[in-house]
Amino acid sequence: MMLRHRLHLLCLLAIVSAPTSASGAWQTVSSEPGKRVEIDRGSIRKDDGGKTLALGRVVLDKPIVDAKTAGNYRIVQALNRYDCQTRTYSTVKRGYYKAEGELLREEEVRVQIETPIRSGMIDDKLLREVCRPKPGPEAGAAASRTVDKVNEAASELRKANEALIQKEIKRANMQTPVTEKSVAVEKSTPASKPTAPVVSVVPTPVEEAAPHTPVTAHRPPPAARKRSSPARTHARVNPPANPVTATRQSPEKPLVTSPAEIHWAYDGAAGPEQWGHLKADYATCATGRRQSPIDIRDGLPVDLEPIQFTYRPSPFRVIDNGHTIQVNVDGSRITLLGTSYELIQFHFHRPAEERVNGQTFDMVAHLVHRSEDGKLAVVAVLLEKGSEHPLIQTIWNHLPLEKNEYVTPPEAQIDIAQLLPADRRYYTYMGSLTTPPCTEGVLWLVLKQPQQLSPEQLAIFSRLYRHNVRPIQPMFSRLIKESR
Ligand SMILES: [Zn+2]
Repeated sequence: MMLRHRLHLLCLLAIVSAPTSASGAWQTVSSEPGKRVEIDRGSIRKDDGGKTLALGRVVLDKPIVDAKTAGNYRIVQALNRYDCQTRTYSTVKRGYYKAEGELLREEEVRVQIETPIRSGMIDDKLLREVCRPKPGPEAGAAASRTVDKVNEAASELRKANEALIQKEIKRANMQTPVTEKSVAVEKSTPASKPTAPVVSVVPTPVEEAAPHTPVTAHRPPPAARKRSSPARTHARVNPPANPVTATRQSPEKPLVTSPAEIHWAYDGAAGPEQWGHLKADYATCATGRRQSPIDIRDGLPVDLEPIQFTYRPSPFRVIDNGHTIQVNVDGSRITLLGTSYELIQFHFHRPAEERVNGQTFDMVAHLVHRSEDGKLAVVAVLLEKGSEHPLIQTIWNHLPLEKNEYVTPPEAQIDIAQLLPADRRYYTYMGSLTTPPCTEGVLWLVLKQPQQLSPEQLAIFSRLYRHNVRPIQPMFSRLIKESR
């Protein structure tokens, strides 16, 4: 498998980069302090499907530590496939280079996600480069095909990296508090060079609480609430003794001086295909065989025990953790097969991560529950466009203006039961968190009947998160049951 990939890669590489090999053909598309983005115009070519491949790269002034090999790289090259009509692209493969011509490692992107390109961004520039007709006499069909192809590659690469870098820079600028992660964990690897331009220190609370963290839903003492709660609520899976302390000392530091770490994302160089390689703790994302989300099909129709929902109206806190909008609540629970699970938080994905017989849904709410002995059960409520949803409106009314800062409405309450459809029949299977560390052993309970939210409500979430979805994972030999 590995070998085949390798071979395939090599072939691909040979084909794609042969005409331009070395470094001669790189054209700078954008340049700013710390990095420049380049495209290899000679690599642009059309593929059989009429899309355009192009090779692009991001060249950084200072090296970044590669989480996978612990080596350094300064150039990330990507072969991207562009759709000039729909203005989307996907990355086919990436190469990480220590320096010009010095390959550190290379990887093929197995699950290629079509990512829309927004105007004004660096990807947009690349797209324009890639999609404009090649000048000169050889603008014949064959020539432009080649050009387009290569082009695609380039853009993708770039785009991926751009996205990542942009994100990191933004994060740095926002002075997000540094998490335990960067400090406590990264110090053990050579990754902690303060030199890297991309500072992806990550304060993001995990979206689906990790099992063995004493996490999330619990409010920090009022004094700590405002600033440090995000760090606290990270359902980080790192058990290092004193993560909070570690966290504490860093928030004031400008991120630029923090250790470099590529944080996970939904696209780009730290996108889902890479999660398993970003750090050791995330390995399950790549190696697990009971991963989520899945396309739910062929469930065994049986009489499933109804889920007992004991959801109560409660105060709530809303946070934009950089991956989703999350709502933390107290005092609600479900009971199933004799086990009681406390509702810790719920959050949203757009579109829904899970599919049902191939069908996608506009959004999904994941309600994350944990039992006393740390088992996780996630109830998924599919959401589709329709009438306005009162509970969602209440949450949207309190959307935080800043990432990683809680909004804690002093008066408002939500009745989480409103989120549940009348028909509580469900699909169930064993899966994982859909975000790093992709921990397995999660009991998934996907309610069959979708709930509605209004197009306006959907649009609001889209402004924040257009596509925060992990791709569908292989089933391997798992069983799905469904209430008949
Ligand atoms: Zn989720």
